[in-house]
Amino acid sequence: MRRHLRKRRTGTHGKTAARGSPFRAKRERENTAVTDMEKRDIKSLTLEELKCDMAELGEKSFRAGQIYQWMHEKLSDGFADMTSLSKNLRRKLEERCEYVCLEAVDRRISAADGTEKYLFRLSDGNVIESVLMRYHHGNSVCISSQAGCRMGCRFCASTLGGLKRSLRPSEMLDQVYRIQKISGERVTHVVVMGTGEPLDNYDNLLRFLRILTGEHGLHISQRNVTVSTYGIVEKMRALAGEKLQITLALSLHASSQEKRKQLMPVAFRYELDDVLEACRYYFAQTGRRITFEYSLVGGVNDTPEDAAGLGRMLAGFNCHVNLIPVNPIRERDYVQSDREVIRAFKNRLEKYGINVTIRREMGRDINGACGQLRRSYIEVREREEQV
Ligand code: SAH
Repeated sequence: MRRHLRKRRTGTHGKTAARGSPFRAKRERENTAVTDMEKRDIKSLTLEELKCDMAELGEKSFRAGQIYQWMHEKLSDGFADMTSLSKNLRRKLEERCEYVCLEAVDRRISAADGTEKYLFRLSDGNVIESVLMRYHHGNSVCISSQAGCRMGCRFCASTLGGLKRSLRPSEMLDQVYRIQKISGERVTHVVVMGTGEPLDNYDNLLRFLRILTGEHGLHISQRNVTVSTYGIVEKMRALAGEKLQITLALSLHASSQEKRKQLMPVAFRYELDDVLEACRYYFAQTGRRITFEYSLVGGVNDTPEDAAGLGRMLAGFNCHVNLIPVNPIRERDYVQSDREVIRAFKNRLEKYGINVTIRREMGRDINGACGQLRRSYIEVREREEQV
């Protein structure tokens, strides 16, 4: 553990928005943080909401703009940093609001490719992980949308301990903010592909996307943001209706309903045809090409028949297929496909005119697979608690 990382937090921990806040009821439904005393989660508010809050406090509305800038552009660590505000206002904010600022408890840097993995502790003690990947086109941060996951995909480490709770917008944003501050490098791309199912936390996700890409925050281009879902059909359609310019990635992993059921319990809930129809709808509504993620599992979904089935299924679909060599996790006996098999799979798909890439493995030496670092941290903590 890297104890030298910043640990300072301001505000009171474990508090959320005031009763009657627009997202309190939804938060309860989504199993997010429980309130004790009622404090406002100020980093989850839009600029308009913050303006209303300032009016309630009898402050001028330009104060809202200043505070918003301190939080979302200057990425300040707490109210104490907001030196353009009077001491009196800072004190009022401390009393009234919670300032979410994640505590980095571990940071691992891959010797192989410079990928950085972060473990953050939330105010209620849950831990989440996020990854910084460096590409020639910029720095991409992969964030978690939930602490744990309840979706049960067979090859995924994030799902093994189940879902603890969904993350608030502030907790999603602050993964990006902390990483930009700690690494000292500008984040240009964000992928919501870490632990959790983002569309299982829909309202908080949307709020996160709006603040992240809004002109008064970090202002990351919507085109540089990807949300990956395992395919909750009605939420995919709802997202299409928001008409954002983000990329939607669908975790497909199989070319037939039956095979998908073996890998992803979601397939018992939605027919593959309906999932694909929702993808077409997303493209029609937004003009954004869908990315299909296909994790190749040795001997399970990597045969020539699988490739041909996938090719037939996606031929003519304006999409992109990302092949992910499965990252084996200890708890399951899935193995990676041979390099040759992966190449052949790609070639077969390309014969159908499909745009295919193979995901470069990054950070394998630092527990790179989804949820592995978090899981190993929780295991150590549980062992410590037993002795
Ligand atoms: N719940 C969302 C986002 C999180 S997972 C989703 O399912 O899309 C991000 C991607 O990584 C998904 O495609 C997921 O299936 C894949 N994945 C998870 N664990 C993996 C592993 N061990 N090896 C390869 N891909 C994995």
